[in-house]
Amino acid sequence: TKNNGRNGYSFFQPSMNTIAQNQLQLINDLWLAQENKELRLFYQPKFCAPRGPIIGFEALLRWQHPQRGLLTPDIFLPLAEKTGLIVSIGNWVIGEACRQLRCWHLQGNSQWSVAVNLSALQFEQAGLVETVVNALETHQIPPELLTLEVTETTAMRDPDESIRILTQLTELGVKASIDDFGTGYSSLLYLKRLPASELKIDRAFVNELQAKTEDATIVTAIVALAQTLNLKVVAEGVETSEQQAFLTGLGCNTLQGYLLGRPVPPEKVPGLKQYVDGD
Ligand code: C2E
Ligand code: CA
Ligand code: CA
Ligand code: CA
Repeated sequence: TKNNGRNGYSFFQPSMNTIAQNQLQLINDLWLAQENKELRLFYQPKFCAPRGPIIGFEALLRWQHPQRGLLTPDIFLPLAEKTGLIVSIGNWVIGEACRQLRCWHLQGNSQWSVAVNLSALQFEQAGLVETVVNALETHQIPPELLTLEVTETTAMRDPDESIRILTQLTELGVKASIDDFGTGYSSLLYLKRLPASELKIDRAFVNELQAKTEDATIVTAIVALAQTLNLKVVAEGVETSEQQAFLTGLGCNTLQGYLLGRPVPPEKVPGLKQYVDGD
């Protein structure tokens, strides 16, 4: 009826405004977040299959929002990408991850590596190589201990350009990893030409390993493909010992997931020398 329509309209309108206002407020807050030092990195361990030792960590962005609490990237990363703020945030991430790695090295864990996620915008930005060089030099990080993770989708946006950028980066000695693999549509020819050293199988496939036989088939094929191309395979999102055993059996080199270790702030990282001594 007419009445319902009007009520629906007047009810709908303010809630739309509320959503928009929330987003605007969040963008505004994000502008200040860096300056106010509200961004931080959590670290999730990567294990040599099947259960260790720890070979390094993936740095994962968190935002300690003054009112909303600890926010994960799904809440703010899309906004950071839309506004372009991701470039300066991403550059901070590279420096901060290297600073943390240097601390761990000085504490005696000199074999550990760190992996950093790059957004598409950051990957395509002209100053990336310089940012990486600066971070490595400032924190005296051996380049081969820094991995840059680029999603398959990002890498395939402009494959020739991606090869050019990744070549520049890997010539510095850093490692490149193709993230969320299996969700994009890589041409095998390009995959072969990408100077990456590692593929990360997307969590979606690992999740469903037991439930769906076709996912087991896909994972098997990805591992075989990676081995053919001489790439290491990282499986992310490992949550059960069945997944751990299956992936290890296939020949995955590295495992990451809640079963083995969740993302934690740096002071809670397992295997720190001070922890081992203290226990
Ligand atoms: P990603 O690169 O695929 O990272 C893996 C995500 O899966 C992380 O979510 C991690 O916490 C989560 N995860 C790890 N193991 C498990 C598991 O066993 N089970 C489940 N259910 N989840 C697991 P997170 O930290 O929320 O990050 C989400 C995404 O945000 C990342 O996905 C990455 O694409 C992006 N991201 C995170 N940090 C950064 C950053 O510094 N820069 C950029 N550009 N993107 C980032
Ligand atoms: Ca990643
Ligand atoms: Ca993923
Ligand atoms: Ca992702």
